[in-house]
Amino acid sequence: MQQLAIFDLDNTLVDRQGPLTAWISAFSERHALTDLARTHLFDAMRDRASLETFEAFCAEHKLAPTAEALWLDYSRHMARSVSCPAGVLDGLSRLRGAGWKVAVATNGGTEIQTAKATASGIVDHVDVVCISEAVGARKPETVIFEKAAAACGADLALGGWMVGDGVDTDIRGGRAAGLHTIWISGGRTWPSGDVQPDHVTTDVRQAIDLLLTTVG
Ligand SMILES: [Mg+2]
Repeated sequence: MQQLAIFDLDNTLVDRQGPLTAWISAFSERHALTDLARTHLFDAMRDRASLETFEAFCAEHKLAPTAEALWLDYSRHMARSVSCPAGVLDGLSRLRGAGWKVAVATNGGTEIQTAKATASGIVDHVDVVCISEAVGARKPETVIFEKAAAACGADLALGGWMVGDGVDTDIRGGRAAGLHTIWISGGRTWPSGDVQPDHVTTDVRQAIDLLLTTVG
C-alpha cells in the first residue's frame, strides 16, 4: 500500500476543545450570559464555528458587539491558543523521513484553519494542509481526500491511511474514500454500526507510532 497518511486537524493534531471552552467562558462572563445561553453557544460552536454562527447568536441574544468583531476576536484567540505537542510534530517529521506523504484534511474556514496550522507549526511538518473552504469539498466527501492526496503527489486510488477523531467525517468518510483508518478515541467508545475503524488509539501520537512501526 502507498505510504500516504492524512490527518484531521481539530482535536486530532491540535486540541480545539480547550481553547474553545476558555474563549466561551471569558466571553460569557464579559457579556453576563445566562447558563442557558452559554450552553447554546457551546452547542453551536462544538464542531465548528464561522461568522454565521456569531450572526445567529448575536441576533438571538441582542448582543452589542457585531458578529464580525466577535468572529475576529475568536479567530485570533484560537490562532494564539492552539498548539501541537512537540512529540506529535516530531512524529510527523519521522513519518516524512520514512518516506510517507503526509497531509492534513480539515473542515473549516481557510483563514482560521491556516492560522491554526501555521501557529502550531504543523505546516512545517506536513506536505500539505487541505482546507474544505479552499477546495470546495468537506469531509466526509471523497473529493477532499482525493485533493489532499493529489496535493502531496499521491494517488487516492492507491490507498493510504486516514487518522482522525471524527466518526463520520474522518472514519466513515475515509473508509468510503478507500482509505484504512485510525480513530482517535480520546477515551470514547466506538459507536456500534456498519463501519469499524481498522485501529483505535487514544491519541495521535500512538497513531503515528502505529503507522511507523506496524503498518509502514
Ligand atoms: Mg476533528
